[in-house]
Amino acid sequence: MIIYGSNSKLIKQAPLENHTCDSCNEKNMQLLIYSSYAHIFWIPLFPYKKSAMLYCGHCQKVTEEKTLESKDRQKIKALKSSVPTPKYMFAGLVIIILAIAGLTFNSSQQEKKQQAFINAPLVGDVYKLKDETELSDYKYYLLKVVAVDEDSIDVSASSFSYNGLPDKLEAEDGFYDVSYRIDRQFVKELYDKKELLKVERDYSDYTGFNRVIQFVPDTLIQENVDESATL
Ligand SMILES: [Zn+2]
Repeated sequence: MIIYGSNSKLIKQAPLENHTCDSCNEKNMQLLIYSSYAHIFWIPLFPYKKSAMLYCGHCQKVTEEKTLESKDRQKIKALKSSVPTPKYMFAGLVIIILAIAGLTFNSSQQEKKQQAFINAPLVGDVYKLKDETELSDYKYYLLKVVAVDEDSIDVSASSFSYNGLPDKLEAEDGFYDVSYRIDRQFVKELYDKKELLKVERDYSDYTGFNRVIQFVPDTLIQENVDESATL
């Protein structure tokens, strides 16, 4: 939940010379200037209005700016604009701008890093890909680089597909102990057309990306089933 709203704060209080209270006729007037600001989680975001009030130190009468005579209103308006808005009232806006700048910088650094991984593959790199042509929700699959050549790489596939970018393999999953060769140029194309979404490097054992599983062709599984059926 985002809590936001507006608030106002006294930013200036000063005696107002040569001004007589229209209630008690004493010359004991104070000018109060307030700044209204928008806040988010009580952090001032930006100021949007200044308002003024007159206060009689003698009879305590408060006079709102808008009820003043035209001549006085002009004078108050000039005084009001001469009072600077405190800088901290822009604090939230500054925080937001810095956060956006930080995120943008971070994502461009990430992008550069990914580009460098693609251009200079290393054995062990794990590619996370998305197959848009897959009809089920399990569109994500993984390939692991097991050999790097000048123009090509050898990759092994994980045995499962996923319904999101996995940070960790399923317990029974791992990369097959067989591989196939693909062009490095083709890898770049996959990355450019966003089928290759992410490259993982320097991952921990916890991810399961180091797990190797034996590839069993479907025909073998079939044979096993047949054998057990005859027993
Ligand atoms: Zn008064």
